[in-house]
Amino acid sequence: MSAPWTVVIPDRVTAPATVEEAVFGTRATVRALHATSAAELRGRIEDADAILAWHDIGWTADVLASLWQCKVIVRVGVGFDNVDLAAARARGIEVCNVPDYGTHDVADHALALLLGLARGLASNDRVARGGVWSWGLAPSFRLTGKTLGIVGLGRIGTATALRAKAFGMQVAYYDPYKPQGWDKALGLTCYRSLAELAAASDVVSLHVPLTQSTRGLVGAEFFAAARRGLVVINTARGPVLDWAAFTAAFRSGHVRCAGFDVLPAEPADPTDPLIRDWMAGAPDVRDRLLITPHCAFYSAEAVEEMRRKAAEEALRVLSGEPAWNSVLPLEAP
Ligand code: NAD
Repeated sequence: MSAPWTVVIPDRVTAPATVEEAVFGTRATVRALHATSAAELRGRIEDADAILAWHDIGWTADVLASLWQCKVIVRVGVGFDNVDLAAARARGIEVCNVPDYGTHDVADHALALLLGLARGLASNDRVARGGVWSWGLAPSFRLTGKTLGIVGLGRIGTATALRAKAFGMQVAYYDPYKPQGWDKALGLTCYRSLAELAAASDVVSLHVPLTQSTRGLVGAEFFAAARRGLVVINTARGPVLDWAAFTAAFRSGHVRCAGFDVLPAEPADPTDPLIRDWMAGAPDVRDRLLITPHCAFYSAEAVEEMRRKAAEEALRVLSGEPAWNSVLPLEAP
Protein backbone atom coordinates (compact mmCIF):
# COMPACT_ATOMS: atom_id res chain seq x y z
CA MET A 1 0.00 0.00 0.00
CA SER A 2 1.39 3.40 -0.80
CA ALA A 3 0.74 6.87 0.52
CA PRO A 4 -1.24 9.00 0.64
CA TRP A 5 -3.32 6.94 2.99
CA THR A 6 -6.78 7.81 4.25
CA VAL A 7 -6.99 8.23 8.00
CA VAL A 8 -10.42 8.65 9.56
CA ILE A 9 -11.14 10.17 12.96
CA PRO A 10 -14.77 9.15 13.35
CA ASP A 11 -15.73 10.80 16.63
CA ARG A 12 -14.94 13.71 18.96
CA VAL A 13 -12.62 15.70 16.65
CA THR A 14 -13.90 18.44 14.37
CA ALA A 15 -11.98 19.31 11.18
CA PRO A 16 -9.33 20.56 10.76
CA ALA A 17 -7.53 17.86 12.74
CA THR A 18 -4.40 19.94 13.15
CA VAL A 19 -2.60 17.64 15.61
CA GLU A 20 -3.01 14.56 13.40
CA GLU A 21 -2.36 16.44 10.13
CA ALA A 22 0.96 17.63 11.56
CA VAL A 23 1.97 13.98 12.16
CA PHE A 24 0.92 12.62 8.74
CA GLY A 25 1.92 15.61 6.59
CA THR A 26 1.54 14.64 2.92
CA ARG A 27 1.51 10.93 3.73
CA ALA A 28 -2.20 10.80 4.53
CA THR A 29 -5.46 12.60 4.08
CA VAL A 30 -7.11 13.03 7.48
CA ARG A 31 -10.91 13.00 7.64
CA ALA A 32 -12.44 14.14 10.95
CA LEU A 33 -16.16 13.30 11.07
CA HIS A 34 -17.29 14.25 14.57
CA ALA A 35 -19.94 11.48 14.45
CA THR A 36 -21.79 10.32 17.53
CA SER A 37 -23.14 6.99 16.23
CA ALA A 38 -22.11 4.22 13.86
CA ALA A 39 -25.09 5.03 11.61
CA GLU A 40 -23.51 8.42 10.76
CA LEU A 41 -20.39 6.68 9.46
CA ARG A 42 -22.04 4.92 6.52
CA GLY A 43 -20.38 5.92 3.25
CA ARG A 44 -17.64 7.89 5.05
CA ILE A 45 -15.20 5.32 6.45
CA GLU A 46 -15.11 2.37 4.02
CA ASP A 47 -11.86 3.47 2.31
CA ALA A 48 -9.98 4.15 5.57
CA ASP A 49 -6.47 2.73 5.88
CA ALA A 50 -6.41 3.66 9.56
CA ILE A 51 -8.98 4.68 12.14
CA LEU A 52 -8.20 6.92 15.13
CA ALA A 53 -11.13 5.94 17.34
CA TRP A 54 -12.29 7.84 20.42
CA HIS A 55 -14.99 6.27 22.57
CA ASP A 56 -18.39 7.38 21.18
CA ILE A 57 -18.63 4.63 18.52
CA GLY A 58 -18.79 0.90 19.15
CA TRP A 59 -16.51 -0.96 16.70
CA THR A 60 -18.74 -4.00 16.38
CA ALA A 61 -18.28 -6.81 13.87
CA ASP A 62 -20.87 -5.10 11.62
CA VAL A 63 -19.09 -1.75 11.60
CA LEU A 64 -15.69 -3.40 11.12
CA ALA A 65 -17.09 -5.36 8.16
CA SER A 66 -17.62 -2.08 6.29
CA LEU A 67 -13.87 -1.37 6.27
CA TRP A 68 -12.36 -2.59 2.97
CA GLN A 69 -8.67 -1.99 3.57
CA CYS A 70 -8.15 -0.86 7.14
CA LYS A 71 -4.82 -1.94 8.65
CA VAL A 72 -5.09 -0.44 12.13
CA ILE A 73 -7.48 1.02 14.66
CA VAL A 74 -5.77 3.13 17.30
CA ARG A 75 -7.86 3.91 20.36
CA VAL A 76 -7.18 7.54 21.20
CA GLY A 77 -6.97 6.70 24.89
CA VAL A 78 -6.30 3.67 27.09
CA GLY A 79 -9.45 1.49 27.24
CA PHE A 80 -10.37 -0.56 24.18
CA ASP A 81 -13.59 -2.21 25.32
CA ASN A 82 -15.50 -0.43 22.48
CA VAL A 83 -13.62 -2.50 19.87
CA ASP A 84 -14.62 -6.10 19.10
CA LEU A 85 -11.10 -7.54 19.18
CA ALA A 86 -12.06 -10.95 17.79
CA ALA A 87 -13.81 -9.35 14.81
CA ALA A 88 -10.84 -7.02 14.26
CA ARG A 89 -8.47 -9.98 14.35
CA ALA A 90 -10.64 -11.87 11.86
CA ARG A 91 -10.34 -8.93 9.45
CA GLY A 92 -6.57 -8.57 9.97
CA ILE A 93 -6.91 -5.18 11.66
CA GLU A 94 -4.34 -4.41 14.36
CA VAL A 95 -5.74 -2.64 17.44
CA CYS A 96 -3.51 -0.30 19.47
CA ASN A 97 -3.94 2.19 22.30
CA VAL A 98 -2.11 5.09 23.95
CA PRO A 99 -1.37 3.89 27.48
CA ASP A 100 0.79 6.67 28.88
CA TYR A 101 -0.58 10.06 27.84
CA GLY A 102 -1.99 10.84 31.30
CA THR A 103 0.75 9.53 33.59
CA HIS A 104 1.87 12.99 34.77
CA ASP A 105 -1.66 14.29 35.00
CA VAL A 106 -3.12 11.46 37.06
CA ALA A 107 -0.13 11.47 39.43
CA ASP A 108 -0.48 15.26 39.79
CA HIS A 109 -4.19 14.76 40.47
CA ALA A 110 -3.57 12.12 43.17
CA LEU A 111 -1.22 14.57 44.90
CA ALA A 112 -3.68 17.43 44.32
CA LEU A 113 -6.43 15.45 46.10
CA LEU A 114 -4.04 14.67 48.94
CA LEU A 115 -2.78 18.25 49.22
CA GLY A 116 -6.33 19.55 48.96
CA LEU A 117 -7.30 17.47 51.97
CA ALA A 118 -4.08 18.09 53.91
CA ARG A 119 -4.32 21.85 53.48
CA GLY A 120 -8.13 21.98 53.71
CA LEU A 121 -8.32 23.82 50.38
CA ALA A 122 -12.04 23.42 49.63
CA SER A 123 -12.97 24.04 53.26
CA ASN A 124 -10.74 27.09 53.66
CA ASP A 125 -12.10 28.49 50.40
CA ARG A 126 -15.60 28.11 51.82
CA VAL A 127 -14.59 29.79 55.08
CA ALA A 128 -12.92 32.71 53.28
CA ARG A 129 -15.85 33.10 50.87
CA GLY A 130 -18.14 33.30 53.89
CA GLY A 131 -16.24 36.41 54.96
CA VAL A 132 -14.21 34.78 57.76
CA TRP A 133 -10.49 35.49 57.52
CA SER A 134 -8.94 33.08 59.97
CA TRP A 135 -7.16 29.77 60.37
CA GLY A 136 -7.86 26.54 62.20
CA LEU A 137 -11.48 26.40 61.00
CA ALA A 138 -10.82 23.65 58.47
CA PRO A 139 -8.88 20.46 59.21
CA SER A 140 -5.25 20.45 58.09
CA PHE A 141 -2.46 17.97 58.57
CA ARG A 142 1.22 17.76 57.67
CA LEU A 143 2.48 15.46 54.90
CA THR A 144 6.19 15.61 55.75
CA GLY A 145 7.21 12.46 57.61
CA LYS A 146 3.95 10.62 56.89
CA THR A 147 3.95 7.30 55.01
CA LEU A 148 2.20 7.01 51.66
CA GLY A 149 1.25 3.46 50.67
CA ILE A 150 0.90 2.94 46.92
CA VAL A 151 -1.21 0.03 45.70
CA GLY A 152 0.07 -0.77 42.20
CA LEU A 153 3.50 0.64 41.37
CA GLY A 154 3.07 1.00 37.61
CA ARG A 155 3.48 4.17 35.57
CA ILE A 156 1.10 6.34 37.59
CA GLY A 157 1.91 4.72 40.94
CA THR A 158 5.62 5.37 40.41
CA ALA A 159 5.05 8.97 39.27
CA THR A 160 2.92 9.51 42.39
CA ALA A 161 5.62 7.96 44.60
CA LEU A 162 8.30 10.27 43.21
CA ARG A 163 6.12 13.34 43.72
CA ALA A 164 5.28 12.32 47.30
CA LYS A 165 8.97 11.94 48.12
CA ALA A 166 9.48 15.57 47.13
CA PHE A 167 6.93 16.46 49.84
CA GLY A 168 9.05 14.65 52.44
CA MET A 169 6.83 11.58 52.64
CA GLN A 170 8.09 8.04 53.20
CA VAL A 171 6.76 5.91 50.37
CA ALA A 172 5.87 2.21 50.48
CA TYR A 173 4.08 0.02 47.98
CA TYR A 174 2.34 -3.26 47.36
CA ASP A 175 2.68 -4.68 43.85
CA PRO A 176 3.36 -8.40 43.63
CA TYR A 177 4.25 -8.10 39.95
CA LYS A 178 7.29 -5.88 40.45
CA PRO A 179 10.64 -7.65 40.38
CA GLN A 180 12.68 -7.91 43.56
CA GLY A 181 14.97 -4.91 44.01
CA TRP A 182 12.56 -2.39 42.50
CA ASP A 183 12.21 -0.92 46.01
CA LYS A 184 15.98 -0.43 46.22
CA ALA A 185 16.16 1.22 42.81
CA LEU A 186 13.51 3.78 43.72
CA GLY A 187 14.27 4.17 47.44
CA LEU A 188 10.85 2.85 48.50
CA THR A 189 9.68 0.21 50.97
CA CYS A 190 8.10 -2.89 49.49
CA TYR A 191 5.45 -4.88 51.36
CA ARG A 192 4.61 -8.36 50.23
CA SER A 193 1.03 -8.19 51.51
CA LEU A 194 -1.68 -5.57 51.30
CA ALA A 195 -2.41 -5.88 55.02
CA GLU A 196 1.21 -5.01 55.86
CA LEU A 197 1.00 -1.95 53.60
CA ALA A 198 -2.27 -0.92 55.27
CA ALA A 199 -0.73 -1.21 58.74
CA ALA A 200 2.29 0.90 57.73
CA SER A 201 0.49 3.71 55.88
CA ASP A 202 -0.92 7.09 56.92
CA VAL A 203 -2.20 7.62 53.38
CA VAL A 204 -3.04 5.01 50.77
CA SER A 205 -3.26 5.79 47.05
CA LEU A 206 -4.73 3.30 44.57
CA HIS A 207 -3.12 2.81 41.15
CA VAL A 208 -4.07 -0.71 40.02
CA PRO A 209 -6.12 -1.50 36.92
CA LEU A 210 -9.62 -2.88 37.45
CA THR A 211 -9.37 -6.64 36.98
CA GLN A 212 -11.01 -9.67 38.53
CA SER A 213 -8.26 -9.72 41.16
CA THR A 214 -8.42 -5.99 42.02
CA ARG A 215 -12.23 -5.59 42.22
CA GLY A 216 -12.93 -4.88 45.91
CA LEU A 217 -9.20 -5.30 46.68
CA VAL A 218 -9.33 -2.52 49.28
CA GLY A 219 -12.12 -3.73 51.54
CA ALA A 220 -13.00 -4.66 55.12
CA GLU A 221 -9.80 -6.67 55.68
CA PHE A 222 -7.70 -3.76 54.50
CA PHE A 223 -9.44 -1.25 56.77
CA ALA A 224 -9.23 -3.63 59.75
CA ALA A 225 -5.46 -3.75 59.27
CA ALA A 226 -5.12 0.01 58.65
CA ARG A 227 -4.19 2.63 61.24
CA ARG A 228 -6.95 4.84 62.62
CA GLY A 229 -6.89 8.16 60.78
CA LEU A 230 -6.02 6.70 57.36
CA VAL A 231 -6.38 8.96 54.32
CA VAL A 232 -7.62 7.20 51.15
CA ILE A 233 -6.94 8.48 47.62
CA ASN A 234 -8.42 6.72 44.57
CA THR A 235 -7.66 7.85 41.02
CA ALA A 236 -7.66 4.30 39.58
CA ARG A 237 -11.14 2.79 39.20
CA GLY A 238 -14.06 3.02 41.63
CA PRO A 239 -14.74 -0.71 42.07
CA VAL A 240 -11.17 -1.33 43.32
CA LEU A 241 -12.48 0.11 46.59
CA ASP A 242 -15.23 -1.83 48.37
CA TRP A 243 -17.65 1.05 48.85
CA ALA A 244 -19.61 -0.48 51.75
CA ALA A 245 -16.42 -1.23 53.69
CA PHE A 246 -15.07 2.24 52.92
CA THR A 247 -18.32 3.92 54.01
CA ALA A 248 -18.27 2.06 57.34
CA ALA A 249 -14.61 2.99 57.95
CA PHE A 250 -15.30 6.62 56.96
CA ARG A 251 -18.44 6.98 59.10
CA SER A 252 -16.64 5.53 62.14
CA GLY A 253 -13.71 7.92 61.72
CA HIS A 254 -11.27 5.05 61.14
CA VAL A 255 -10.72 6.72 57.76
CA ARG A 256 -9.99 10.37 58.43
CA CYS A 257 -10.68 11.69 54.95
CA ALA A 258 -10.69 10.64 51.32
CA GLY A 259 -10.10 12.05 47.84
CA PHE A 260 -11.70 10.33 44.85
CA ASP A 261 -11.58 10.94 41.12
CA VAL A 262 -13.41 7.67 40.48
CA LEU A 263 -16.45 6.12 42.14
CA PRO A 264 -18.17 2.73 42.02
CA ALA A 265 -20.98 4.39 40.03
CA GLU A 266 -20.26 7.32 37.73
CA PRO A 267 -21.64 9.94 37.68
CA ALA A 268 -21.92 10.00 41.49
CA ASP A 269 -25.07 8.19 42.63
CA PRO A 270 -27.26 10.60 44.63
CA THR A 271 -29.20 7.67 46.15
CA ASP A 272 -26.08 6.46 47.96
CA PRO A 273 -26.31 7.85 51.53
CA LEU A 274 -22.66 8.97 51.72
CA ILE A 275 -22.79 10.59 48.29
CA ARG A 276 -26.05 12.28 49.29
CA ASP A 277 -24.37 13.73 52.40
CA TRP A 278 -21.40 14.87 50.33
CA MET A 279 -23.69 16.56 47.78
CA ALA A 280 -25.65 18.26 50.57
CA GLY A 281 -22.43 19.46 52.25
CA ALA A 282 -23.25 17.64 55.51
CA PRO A 283 -20.93 19.02 58.23
CA ASP A 284 -19.35 15.66 59.14
CA VAL A 285 -18.64 14.88 55.47
CA ARG A 286 -17.91 18.11 53.60
CA ASP A 287 -14.41 18.71 54.98
CA ARG A 288 -13.44 15.05 54.71
CA LEU A 289 -14.52 13.99 51.25
CA LEU A 290 -13.12 15.57 48.10
CA ILE A 291 -14.51 14.21 44.82
CA THR A 292 -13.67 15.14 41.22
CA PRO A 293 -15.56 13.87 38.13
CA HIS A 294 -13.09 11.37 36.62
CA CYS A 295 -10.99 14.17 35.19
CA ALA A 296 -7.56 13.19 36.55
CA PHE A 297 -6.23 12.33 33.08
CA TYR A 298 -7.25 15.64 31.62
CA SER A 299 -5.04 18.57 30.78
CA ALA A 300 -4.72 20.43 27.49
CA GLU A 301 -1.23 18.93 27.16
CA ALA A 302 -2.46 15.38 27.84
CA VAL A 303 -5.10 15.58 25.10
CA GLU A 304 -2.58 16.92 22.60
CA GLU A 305 -0.14 14.13 23.55
CA MET A 306 -2.86 11.48 23.26
CA ARG A 307 -3.88 12.62 19.78
CA ARG A 308 -0.29 12.96 18.57
CA LYS A 309 0.75 9.54 19.91
CA ALA A 310 -2.32 7.85 18.41
CA ALA A 311 -1.50 9.35 15.00
CA GLU A 312 2.17 8.36 15.31
CA GLU A 313 1.15 4.78 16.13
CA ALA A 314 -1.12 4.61 13.07
CA LEU A 315 1.67 6.00 10.89
CA ARG A 316 4.08 3.34 12.20
CA VAL A 317 1.70 0.50 11.33
CA LEU A 318 0.82 1.95 7.90
CA SER A 319 4.55 2.31 7.18
CA GLY A 320 5.10 -1.38 7.98
CA GLU A 321 6.90 -0.78 11.29
CA PRO A 322 5.98 -2.68 14.45
CA ALA A 323 3.37 -1.01 16.64
CA TRP A 324 4.54 0.19 20.06
CA ASN A 325 1.27 -0.42 21.88
CA SER A 326 -0.62 -3.19 20.18
CA VAL A 327 -3.42 -4.63 22.31
CA LEU A 328 -4.14 -7.15 19.59
CA PRO A 329 -0.88 -8.25 18.01
CA LEU A 330 -1.65 -10.07 14.80
CA GLU A 331 0.14 -13.32 14.13
CA ALA A 332 2.78 -13.17 11.43
CA PRO A 333 1.26 -14.35 8.12
P1 NAD B 1 0.17 0.35 34.77
O1 NAD B 1 -0.25 -0.85 34.01
O2 NAD B 1 1.43 1.06 34.36
O3 NAD B 1 0.32 -0.02 36.34
C1 NAD B 1 -0.56 -0.82 37.02
C2 NAD B 1 0.23 -1.52 38.13
O4 NAD B 1 -0.69 -2.26 38.94
C3 NAD B 1 1.27 -2.52 37.60
O5 NAD B 1 2.55 -2.25 38.15
C4 NAD B 1 0.75 -3.87 38.07
O6 NAD B 1 1.80 -4.78 38.40
C5 NAD B 1 -0.04 -3.48 39.31
N1 NAD B 1 -1.04 -4.47 39.70
C6 NAD B 1 -1.88 -5.18 38.91
N2 NAD B 1 -2.66 -5.98 39.66
C7 NAD B 1 -2.30 -5.76 40.96
C8 NAD B 1 -2.73 -6.31 42.20
N3 NAD B 1 -3.69 -7.25 42.26
N4 NAD B 1 -2.16 -5.84 43.33
C9 NAD B 1 -1.20 -4.89 43.29
N5 NAD B 1 -0.71 -4.37 42.13
C10 NAD B 1 -1.26 -4.81 40.99
O7 NAD B 1 -1.06 1.33 34.72
P2 NAD B 1 -1.04 2.93 34.94
O8 NAD B 1 -0.80 3.60 33.64
O9 NAD B 1 -0.18 3.24 36.10
O10 NAD B 1 -2.58 3.18 35.31
C11 NAD B 1 -3.11 2.63 36.51
C12 NAD B 1 -4.62 2.75 36.49
O11 NAD B 1 -4.99 4.12 36.62
C13 NAD B 1 -5.28 2.35 35.16
O12 NAD B 1 -5.48 0.95 35.08
C14 NAD B 1 -6.59 3.08 35.19
O13 NAD B 1 -7.59 2.28 35.78
C15 NAD B 1 -6.28 4.27 36.08
N6 NAD B 1 -6.35 5.53 35.32
C16 NAD B 1 -7.20 6.50 35.76
C17 NAD B 1 -7.29 7.69 35.08
C18 NAD B 1 -8.19 8.79 35.57
O14 NAD B 1 -8.47 9.72 34.80
N7 NAD B 1 -8.65 8.76 36.81
C19 NAD B 1 -6.53 7.89 33.92
C20 NAD B 1 -5.65 6.89 33.51
C21 NAD B 1 -5.56 5.71 34.22
